[in-house]
Amino acid sequence: MKRRPSPAATAAALIPASADLAELRRRADGCTACELYRRATRTVFGAGPSQARVMLVGEQPGNEEDLTGKPFVGPAGRVLGAALGRAGIDRGETYVTNIVKHFKWEPRGKRRIHAKPSASEVAACRPWLEAELARIRPEILVALGATAAQGLLGRGVRVRAQRGQFLSSPLAPRVMVTVHPSAILRSRDDAERHREMEHFVRDLRGVAAALHSTGNRSRSSSRLPSPTCPRTSFRSRETGRTAPSREGPTATARPRVRGPGPPRR
Ligand code: SF4
Repeated sequence: MKRRPSPAATAAALIPASADLAELRRRADGCTACELYRRATRTVFGAGPSQARVMLVGEQPGNEEDLTGKPFVGPAGRVLGAALGRAGIDRGETYVTNIVKHFKWEPRGKRRIHAKPSASEVAACRPWLEAELARIRPEILVALGATAAQGLLGRGVRVRAQRGQFLSSPLAPRVMVTVHPSAILRSRDDAERHREMEHFVRDLRGVAAALHSTGNRSRSSSRLPSPTCPRTSFRSRETGRTAPSREGPTATARPRVRGPGPPRR
């Protein structure tokens, strides 16, 4: 049995302003800010280079992630990796994380089935995501699925209607919402799975095209909170309204991402 401190309202008190990603990961390992830690095996913090130009945010770790402690290593992670590859984005150069860091599940026979985190659990975990954002400061932030999209951008965002567009947000120079790769796995048949995968790849090609067109990252153009102020709340910036972004990042070339390439059908 792990020894844990008593639960707190949110994770904010656990996050020192000066902590780097490694320190954040270490501290998140002992987080008890909501009830999700009780039934999970371990905290699954984000992974990827601190200089990543793209940050992808999903809902929560799944069964394999919970067992390994690494994000997006299960079936949905393999779909994500395949889609990124087809879009011309090197997954190893992205930072991947989730809006909550512990696996929420319900038993079904011998299996552990994903359960959607509540709004209060998302709110409790948000300081970890804010801290990751403040340190990565991605050029492009991609929310995967409705829980991540609404947790980041407010309840007004509609993934199906707004997917693939760049939306205005103070969180990053460009913010996109798209489906979670697990939605592709839940397709009713092969034809639907194929259609959904093609659409997902198209969305990610938009990310690749934006990276390709802007070249090098421009941290100074970001409106994200400073790494020394990781507790700046999303809530205060969250409007619940999202609109296609009219601004683009200003930057110079850094060839870390291949061009979007020709569409595959
Ligand atoms: S889900 Fe987030 S806030 Fe809740 S215990 Fe885990 S790390 Fe802490």
